[in-house]
Amino acid sequence: MQVRLAGVKQESVTDGAGLRSVVYFQGCPHHCPGCHNPESHDPQAGYLCETGELLELLCNNQLIDGITLSGGEPLAQPDAALYLARAAKARGKSVWIYTGFTLEQVLQDDIKKSVLAYTDVLVDGTFVLAERDLSLPYRGSRNQRLLTRADWQA
Ligand code: SF4
Repeated sequence: MQVRLAGVKQESVTDGAGLRSVVYFQGCPHHCPGCHNPESHDPQAGYLCETGELLELLCNNQLIDGITLSGGEPLAQPDAALYLARAAKARGKSVWIYTGFTLEQVLQDDIKKSVLAYTDVLVDGTFVLAERDLSLPYRGSRNQRLLTRADWQA
């Protein structure tokens, strides 16, 4: 399976708890004013990558605690997000996902919802410039929530 990416950061301490590999998906339908990564919006830009090869590249690093799917909008390519999240969990890695969709929107879409079975933390919602708050851990605006499994299994 192929996934269209904006880039990969093999080691990060700012995109979730611990040391993480970050996958930046290409393409985002949300177009938030003030987006930190506007070059990731075009769904035709970026580059194509085989998900299996990408997973090997990320998880062969024994030092990482997990992977983070970010973007762009990872849930705009839900099959690839599902593959990566499931495969990372099978290797004992934690999975964080940054999405511009709200949890409620994710739960209304079967394929997006299926990714949650392999997700530890979901940071949801678009970036809202008027709600921007640099003091928040792991997110940029106050409307965004740091959600865990208990939030969608309740
Ligand atoms: S959801 Fe994220 S990547 Fe997409 S426009 Fe908003 S801030 Fe940018």
